[in-house]
Amino acid sequence: MTNAEPQVVPHWIDGREQESTSGRTAPVYDPALGVETKRVALANRAEVDAAVASARAAFPAWAETSLARRQAVVFRFRELLEARKSELAEIITSEHGKVLSDALGEISRGQEVVEFACGLAHHLKGEFSEQASSGIDVYSIRQPLGVVGIISPFNFPAMVPAWFFPIAIAAGNTVVLKPSEKDPSAALWLARLWKEAGLPDGVFTVVNGDKEAVDGLLEHPEVRSISFVGSTPIARYVYENGTRNGKRVQALGGAKNHMLVLPDADLDLTADSAVNAGFGSAGERCMAISVVVAVEPVADELVAKIKDRIGGLKIGDGRRGCDMGPLVTREHRDKVASYIDVAAADGASVVVDGREVEVDGEEDGFWLGPTLIDKVPTTSRVYTEEIFGPVLSVVRVPSFEAGIELINRGAFGNGTAIFTNDGGAARRFQREVQVGMIGINVPIPVPVATFSFGGWRDSLFGDTKAHGAEGVRFFTQLKAVTSRWLDPSHGGINLGFPQN
Ligand code: NAD
Repeated sequence: MTNAEPQVVPHWIDGREQESTSGRTAPVYDPALGVETKRVALANRAEVDAAVASARAAFPAWAETSLARRQAVVFRFRELLEARKSELAEIITSEHGKVLSDALGEISRGQEVVEFACGLAHHLKGEFSEQASSGIDVYSIRQPLGVVGIISPFNFPAMVPAWFFPIAIAAGNTVVLKPSEKDPSAALWLARLWKEAGLPDGVFTVVNGDKEAVDGLLEHPEVRSISFVGSTPIARYVYENGTRNGKRVQALGGAKNHMLVLPDADLDLTADSAVNAGFGSAGERCMAISVVVAVEPVADELVAKIKDRIGGLKIGDGRRGCDMGPLVTREHRDKVASYIDVAAADGASVVVDGREVEVDGEEDGFWLGPTLIDKVPTTSRVYTEEIFGPVLSVVRVPSFEAGIELINRGAFGNGTAIFTNDGGAARRFQREVQVGMIGINVPIPVPVATFSFGGWRDSLFGDTKAHGAEGVRFFTQLKAVTSRWLDPSHGGINLGFPQN
């Protein structure tokens, strides 16, 4: 670092950058270099209030804007994003560390939701019952909520906010986004793009911060809903406090995703998939595979194939064409690495130790190579806790039934996959497994934007998932209209409850 004052990532309020007055900031690192490159503003309550006030002021005119015009703005945003996404990918890589191709992948999955929102008029159509009662028609309309809050995690600084804001905005709401303080610049870039697309000031607002900003949103009476994604303890906290304050809340939490491998599976495809889903984005994906559940007798052969593939991976700076980048912070890298000692102490077999990795990158980067641990006891913290790094565990089970039983016993229920050539087994898996998103020979079953994303159990608090039809429901409130146009034959006094 030079002696120059570091850049402070500001807020975006009223359609422009606004410097923080809180006096609090946090460091933002380039994880591949291992150095602090910027700082980020941490909002106080007054700044959260200013952000919400701006969003509240923008709401009536935006909600009044025709659906066709709102969609046209979203469409222009889509065109700009498509043309300029490499800029955004570079920002993501420089603060998160994921390789550039993966950053582009994240953007394209977020863009899918933008594209879905371009056709929102279709999803906002109401229902109509003619002559539901004598002379009476009944119909439903969906209206926006008002100011909606989004609180996002570090691991997808563009895609996760984009699970929510395109639908929220197209539906006529105004959005206040509180991105992760670890990689906040993507949100600012998106805000500038919205402005360029013609979105009125105040419709998309970014307030940077930590717990204080989150609490400010959870307690603010003008914030009508909260869409949260992050770790399970914070998701639970956000759900409990948001609902206590009368808000609609969807809070997506952590994960520990299992991949069940049956003896009839194609083991080369399976090993490729385990490596891709276990080590892509350095395992910092909520849909990463972290446990391979091998139904015997496949384990020895499968572990050998996975080990072989790990040997071919290039680890290093995401801007240098590597397969896998660093972890997000030094502290997180150290925590993830500490599980390798836990594994050894608990009697597991460390097949590949990521601490010994050679990297194509700066020495101080937050590196940890792909780690493969076999024969992990299910009582070990390596198995029970979400590690959120490039550590792939293998648990050996005697049967298909034992595999399903193991998956259903865990606390999380985000995603899971089965690898098999037996359609009957796959169908039974799909029916019996208590998990929200299922892959059949697909290791990371993130549903496309027309479907909805979200887990079960401790992976989702609330009853509404992200995007697709559930996203439309979340960001609108339903009104039912009962209408009668005067007909002289239906007059008269009747104090009874209206009947059909
Ligand atoms: P995190 O829970 O630490 O942070 C998420 C958000 O909560 C951030 O904006 C952060 O500023 C805020 N926050 C942190 N501590 C807080 C506190 N004490 N009070 C109030 N707000 C607080 O999560 P993370 O480390 O940024 O992201 C990784 C986690 O997110 C993993 O557990 C991962 O599984 C999960 N995740 C889940 C999904 C999903 O769809 N279920 C998707 C992506 C990530």
